[in-house]
Amino acid sequence: MALAVSADALRTLHRLQRQMTDLREQLAAGPRQLAVGSKQVEAAESAHAATLDEIKKAKMAVDQKQLQLRSAESKILDLEAKLNACKTNREYQTLRDQIAADRMATKVLEDEILEALDRLDTVKRNVAPAEAEVAAAKKRLSETRAKVDGEATRLEAEVARIRADLDSAENDLPHDSREVYHRIVKSKGADAMAAVEGESCGGCFQQLTGNMLAELSMGRVVPCRGCGCLLYVTT
Ligand SMILES: [Zn+2]
Repeated sequence: MALAVSADALRTLHRLQRQMTDLREQLAAGPRQLAVGSKQVEAAESAHAATLDEIKKAKMAVDQKQLQLRSAESKILDLEAKLNACKTNREYQTLRDQIAADRMATKVLEDEILEALDRLDTVKRNVAPAEAEVAAAKKRLSETRAKVDGEATRLEAEVARIRADLDSAENDLPHDSREVYHRIVKSKGADAMAAVEGESCGGCFQQLTGNMLAELSMGRVVPCRGCGCLLYVTT
């Protein structure tokens, strides 16, 4: 059964509803872009923190080895002081062997300290790039925020304009049709309406009956039996 509304009026409503949907999608894109930007800042900051942590660990490794070296050297000094107090050759020789072994161990420690210092230098070189990445990510985020804010102002003004046009077009609908229209729009949004394509519904592509096509050709609006949307003919 045809609705008491013209195809022209419905075409206008359909256009306005589609514009509204499009504007809302554009508005929703802003917060998503900001969320991506915030995630990039977080990732850069955590990479930077990880680099500082690595430096701390590398410094601790150096300190620990240096402490071990000092203690090993002081042990050697102690042993050397005992050499003069040796009573037998055997005792003396044993002590000399011990000192020689300890000196070998300090050589190894010295090499390990050089390696640990090298490692410290290497991780220190990662700080500047990590800091630069944090700054770059923050700059990108603030640029995105400025752009999104500007866009939002423009889009909201556009939404208000389309909303006013929609209100006026909806108010022009006869009372009965308005109820049907609002019910369908509430559940389907802009897809509540569809232009006829050939002899089929432009929403669900169901073939339309001869009766429906006849009513549609008179510029009337007919609900689709397949998807329930309001059909109209484009001229
Ligand atoms: Zn349909």
